[in-house]
Amino acid sequence: AFQAEVVPKAPEDPLFGLMAAYRKDTFERKVDLGIGAYRDDNAKPWVLPVVKKADDVIRSDPDLNHEYLPIAGLQQFTSASQRLILGTDSSAIKENRITSLQTISGTGAVHLGALFLRKFYKGNSDPNVYFSNPTWANHNQIFTNVHLPIKTYPYFSAETKGLDFEGMISSLESAPEGSIILLHACAHNPTGVDPTQEQWKKIAEVLKARQHFPFFDCAYQGFASGSLNQDAWAVRYFVEQGFELLIAQSYAKNFGLYGERAGCFHFVTSPGSDATDTVTRVASQLAILQRSEISNPPIYGAKIASTVLNDDALFAEWEDNLRTMSGRIIDMRKSLRTKLEELGTPGTWNHITDQIGMFSFTGLTEKQVLKIREDAHVYMTKNGRISMAGINTKNVDYVANAIDKVVR
Ligand code: PLP
Repeated sequence: AFQAEVVPKAPEDPLFGLMAAYRKDTFERKVDLGIGAYRDDNAKPWVLPVVKKADDVIRSDPDLNHEYLPIAGLQQFTSASQRLILGTDSSAIKENRITSLQTISGTGAVHLGALFLRKFYKGNSDPNVYFSNPTWANHNQIFTNVHLPIKTYPYFSAETKGLDFEGMISSLESAPEGSIILLHACAHNPTGVDPTQEQWKKIAEVLKARQHFPFFDCAYQGFASGSLNQDAWAVRYFVEQGFELLIAQSYAKNFGLYGERAGCFHFVTSPGSDATDTVTRVASQLAILQRSEISNPPIYGAKIASTVLNDDALFAEWEDNLRTMSGRIIDMRKSLRTKLEELGTPGTWNHITDQIGMFSFTGLTEKQVLKIREDAHVYMTKNGRISMAGINTKNVDYVANAIDKVVR
């Protein structure tokens, strides 16, 4: 018998649990700063106008059908995804040093990479994967599920609410040679703290010297700064330095395609005469992993993204939509910081505008987080992370006052 009585009850996913608690709350002024999804100034989900246009284009195609995609996904989508993350003039693309598969959004890409590493990575006889401390909570589960042991490197300084660069570097220097290093390409989740370009160069230097293997998780390209190129800078720099590396790319945030699960996984190999051969062999194994996991990826989200990415006019409009989202968030950062400073809320609040992307790591303690939820019905994760997208011109005063009260 299966003996289901031995299956222990697992704790509820904290983030989705928070979402459920928020939904149940009947308080009129409640504020959701939990989930990382964009909201407009009326706290409503926003369908990007360019996505609506792409949808019209797709639906007006008389040959529209619901056939299976190939195992690696929609080819126009994966090749446009390569150009997006690496740049149109990337030597890795020109030299066929890259192979890509469409995945179940960013999560699926991280998972496919983890599975591939677990099965084939030989850069170290007993490899560990190193995460920033803290990192996106799901990284832990994804890598644990494929039995890749996890370690962490210091990342966030509680004192400065910025990057603990020295701690990070010395930890990467002392990690066993050939370790796998997971890096957030931009808009680090949950801290909103990214290395500067100079710091990225040093990180690359250490990884190269220690023969570590980089795995970039890129969930916020274009959403962080509003510039697709700026947000891809670190990945492109590493590729230019000749690294062999992995990339997980999500279109959830930058296209607002959360539930459509559009993403892409890339394996990029180093320049060399055997590059094409490497890519061919790797692609054949990735295809087997993909086939056994999902057979082939879902079609709709990839078609939307592909329609936009492969059309100059739609692409330009998308960039405009990205600036709308990132611009609103940057404005809300300024607004929240200003209000807190006007209120004279104890502490410093410059980190709110220094941090970038969807999130801000406020520095509120778990106790304060629970109190602000109870007293003011403001919902955020226990680590004090707030989704900036949940703040708007109508609730920023309310949120600032609630933070002020709980900090005093
Ligand atoms: N990686 C990071 C760092 C994220 O923050 C997220 C989403 O929150 C993802 C990956 C993947 O998200 P999705 O699977 O929705 O693309």
